[in-house]
Amino acid sequence: MIDYHIHTQFSKDSKLTMEDVCKQAIEMGLQEICFTDHWDLNPSGEYFDFDLNYQSYTMEYIRCSEMYGDKIKIKKGLEIGLQSHLLDKIDKLLKDKNFDFILGSIHYVNKVDLFKEDFYKNREKSEAFNEYLQEVYTCITEFDNFDCLGHLDVIRRYCIYNDKSLLYDDYMEILDKILIMLVNKNKGLEANISAERYGLGNILPSEEIFKRYGDLEGKIVTLGSDSHLNEHFKIERKKYINILKECGFTHVASFENRNLCLIPIDELE
Ligand SMILES: [Zn+2]
Ligand SMILES: [Zn+2]
Repeated sequence: MIDYHIHTQFSKDSKLTMEDVCKQAIEMGLQEICFTDHWDLNPSGEYFDFDLNYQSYTMEYIRCSEMYGDKIKIKKGLEIGLQSHLLDKIDKLLKDKNFDFILGSIHYVNKVDLFKEDFYKNREKSEAFNEYLQEVYTCITEFDNFDCLGHLDVIRRYCIYNDKSLLYDDYMEILDKILIMLVNKNKGLEANISAERYGLGNILPSEEIFKRYGDLEGKIVTLGSDSHLNEHFKIERKKYINILKECGFTHVASFENRNLCLIPIDELE
């Protein structure tokens, strides 16, 4: 089994340590893990909201790889927060850094934090959702230095509406633009398996969006638990792999030095 979305002590919202994740993953028989700690500029672009101490992160990654690398494949990834007005700055930030994998995620829209109520207050759900999806589209269109789009419908996690669904039929036009852009740029779509702990079904985005990505010839799918706590990490992943299989995917993506490697789903234990 594989997990390509894990936060450790280098993300301020995580209670996991890199070393504990390695030990736990080996105990659970995982074949491969990829750390994806946060790096998010503040909307002003002046300082970091979620900073990454790149040097310490790299040193700890090397230490863990030396200790556990003979038992499990360990990759050095990143979850980079994308904001359309800061893309040049974000690109520069990544210039001299080395990662195996970069997950591009949108956590702010027009300088407002998606995690906060302000983004949703006094407006229709469709307006908020469309604005968010438009920002996703702009970021992935204008930015190239990422391998996979993180949690495409993350807005469902934090919105304040009773109906938190993001159905393909309701946002077809903008979703197709996003999915086609990913396919044309050879970028992946993350199957974020945190959905269940937020009461949002099986995977984020939903199965129908994965099927559409597949219909559009999208083949690059990563599986990520988005773990911040041990209980997030200690979940059974097999069922999510089966869901991807049912959606028509035959492989799951892994990366090394930013190079894609597709692992046949049937080889995942
Ligand atoms: Zn995220
Ligand atoms: Zn994350």
